[in-house]
Amino acid sequence: MRIAVVSLFPQMIHDALRIGVVGRALERGIFQIDCFDPRDYTDDIHRTVDDRPFGGGPGMVLKVEPMRSAVRDAVGVLPPGSRRVYLGADGRRFEQSMAREACAWPGLVLIAGRYEGVDERFIEQEIDEEWSIGDYVLSGGELPALVVIDAIARLMPGTLGSSESALQESFSDGLVDWPHYTRPQALEGRDVPAVLASGDHAAIARWRLQQALGRTWLRRPELLERRGMSDEERELLEEFKNERARQ
Ligand code: SAM
Repeated sequence: MRIAVVSLFPQMIHDALRIGVVGRALERGIFQIDCFDPRDYTDDIHRTVDDRPFGGGPGMVLKVEPMRSAVRDAVGVLPPGSRRVYLGADGRRFEQSMAREACAWPGLVLIAGRYEGVDERFIEQEIDEEWSIGDYVLSGGELPALVVIDAIARLMPGTLGSSESALQESFSDGLVDWPHYTRPQALEGRDVPAVLASGDHAAIARWRLQQALGRTWLRRPELLERRGMSDEERELLEEFKNERARQ
């Protein structure tokens, strides 16, 4: 998959994507990143990309022309059918299901804003979707773009080894993850749940599902409502609740 990022700080994107499993995937060509800096599409000596807002008020607004030229160049290097996503605090909340969908797109252009944001006419004309990574305001769209790239890249075949499979992570099945443990088995009076050291794979799978159901019920009940449960899962959750009530 090819991903293009339109950003005033391309170095931030390149530097962050050198690290960890996503960095290795990039090195191995599982996906490709190209950055387009709107300043390269200006024709004045100061490489101006922003101007004062109409109507007054603090801050600056990114101008249409350099942003549009950068996006159009980015689209030009991507396969047909690629989508253009603007990162904005008031966009649609980015979720795992959107990462899964995007993973199947031929290409993706992520557009990072700065300052007060970008001239609305650019959004109206050049953007397919607006995504937010949460209800808080960051200084720029680069970190949100990196969040989106990381979430998508780990779903691409070959990014994660089988030992790190994305199939067993939070939200992959509409549930949050179960708790994880490693050595030592006993630590300061707290033992790892016995079933995990039992070698009984069916019992381990059952315990993990029960924990995932229980944690989702405790932490993200709306996810459980959205997902629904089988009869067996309902029983497991009841058992989890009873166990908790006894503690
Ligand atoms: N005036 C904007 C507002 O009140 O929503 C905030 C602009 S913010 C300082 C600069 C840029 O950061 C935005 O244009 C957007 O690209 C990015 N940004 C900030 N918070 C974000 C979030 N939660 N999700 C996605 N992008 C965000």
